[in-house]
Amino acid sequence: MIDVTISQLVLLCLVLGVGLVSLTWFVTVTRVRRAEKKRLQDVFTCRICGVRYEAESNSLSQCPACGTPNEIEPPSMI
Ligand SMILES: [Zn+2]
Repeated sequence: MIDVTISQLVLLCLVLGVGLVSLTWFVTVTRVRRAEKKRLQDVFTCRICGVRYEAESNSLSQCPACGTPNEIEPPSMI
């Protein structure tokens, strides 16, 4: 049997709790960032009329307002 004092047991529980919360936070933040990046990849801005619209992430898309073919732009963070 391993001899453990009550203070060591409390410290072990605290360390495990902080580790679990940190891991959950990291996984959640990574998932949210990945979803945001995926969402911004599909946003096009029309180079003629300036309309922003979502389309499938191929290299060329047609503006729904004016019909101009547009290339995807890198996402801009606010
Ligand atoms: Zn347009």
